[in-house]
Amino acid sequence: MAMLNQHLIDPQICIRCNTCEETCPNDAITHDANNYVVKAQVCNGCMACVPPCPTGAIDNWRQVSEADAYSIDAQFAWDELPSQQSTAQQGAGVSVPHRLEHLLDSGSDVLRGASAPPWSAARPHVNLYTQNAPATAVVAGNYRLTNETADSDIHHIVLDFGTTFFPVLEGQSIGVVPPGAAPNGRPYHARQYSLANPRDGERRGCNNVSLTVKRVIRDHDGNPARGVCSNYLCDLRKGDRLAVIGPFGSTFLMPNHPGSHLLMICTGTGAAPMRAMTEYRRRHQCDGAAGRLMLFFGARTPQELPYFGPLTNLPKGFIDADLAFSRVPGRPKRYVQDALRERAADVGPWLADRNTHVYVCGLKGMEEGVLLALRDIAQRHGLDWQRVWADLRREGRLHLETY
Ligand SMILES: Cc1cc2nc3c(=O)[nH]c(=O)nc-3n(C[C@H](O)[C@H](O)[C@H](O)COP(=O)(O)OP(=O)(O)OC[C@H]3O[C@@H](n4cnc5c(N)ncnc54)[C@H](O)[C@@H]3O)c2cc1C
Ligand code: SF4
Ligand code: SF4
Repeated sequence: MAMLNQHLIDPQICIRCNTCEETCPNDAITHDANNYVVKAQVCNGCMACVPPCPTGAIDNWRQVSEADAYSIDAQFAWDELPSQQSTAQQGAGVSVPHRLEHLLDSGSDVLRGASAPPWSAARPHVNLYTQNAPATAVVAGNYRLTNETADSDIHHIVLDFGTTFFPVLEGQSIGVVPPGAAPNGRPYHARQYSLANPRDGERRGCNNVSLTVKRVIRDHDGNPARGVCSNYLCDLRKGDRLAVIGPFGSTFLMPNHPGSHLLMICTGTGAAPMRAMTEYRRRHQCDGAAGRLMLFFGARTPQELPYFGPLTNLPKGFIDADLAFSRVPGRPKRYVQDALRERAADVGPWLADRNTHVYVCGLKGMEEGVLLALRDIAQRHGLDWQRVWADLRREGRLHLETY
């Protein structure tokens, strides 16, 4: 009997972030309104989707006979994974592909960012709380960050965990479970939000975190749409309680060795992890953190830039911040990749330095432009981009998070 090591996604943990579907080089992953699922006949076990999955939901395998492989329709209907059938039914010699090593050895270009954290990153806690067993947080504050006249409504939301253990690191994210049910009657799935606070709390020494949330009022095509979770979060009041899952993320983490430099490139709410890392370094400046910080931060207008005020107040010797605006009347459009190119003389030597760690976060559309700009800058400085690219990824020094 031909056996198959069938790749499955755990619907109880999956937060429907679409990362796996975008990553899979074989179009083996699809979804409906309920679940993300894997096409058994298409998946070749290449493992490209496993490291980027923020929850680990993707890393499930069941040994079944080929004739009994779970169909797409069966997977769409699941609320939980089926258990593994008895070992007597399992085929001998069917091996689970070995994930990370395979990817790194294959030289695959599919996994665009690094699949490993920086060598000196602290060890993160992940998946402590799940959709079935979430943590409860209390809203300690909810402030609009963007100017009232600005088109985009971005909030800074502080959540307090009281005496609940909820350890986080800069660059990690959490999931928020909106109350209520989707039109199909099922509970809403959790949405993911990057943390904007350093590990020692939004307020130093407190068991709290902060989020940078943009109220979604239009879909990606510009049509009116009321985003379920972002509107729920932006409307929360001080004292409200909410269900939180996570923390997530074990690679987009900051280095801790003193000489490490952070090259941070972000747009909009992608500022959240950059704020977390910057604040951590600011708080610990006196603890020997000698590395430098360079930030490229893009928004349509200055009014739409979260954390604009505090950022411009930080001394240049601590952080070299370059702000790029794409919709200021009377001024040419300037995107983060334009700013990077203009600062090639400063960025080039950083790319040659193995202490440099690059973080890109924000709108999906920025990724390609930013990577092309980095490539061009490397080449202008006589660096072999393929080599730089490979080193950055292998050494956990290039991290991308776009949504
Ligand atoms: C790793 C990761 C980190 C994230 N971090 C943040 C963060 O720090 N801050 C933040 O605000 N969001 C962040 N997001 C996005 C967030 O998870 C939600 O997708 C977003 O808030 C929309 O959820 P919603 O429930 O309001 O909209 P939904 O009800 O899920 O969607 C409503 C409609 O809006 C569209 N839509 C969804 N998101 C957007 C968007 N951003 N812009 C325009 N249209 C959209 C959908 O396609 C749909 O048509 C992150 C996502 C990922 C994967
Ligand atoms: S949580 Fe993992 S399995 Fe679910 S959609 Fe995201 S990447 Fe895919
Ligand atoms: S293992 Fe490879 S082929 Fe299978 S779903 Fe993941 S990325 Fe796609």
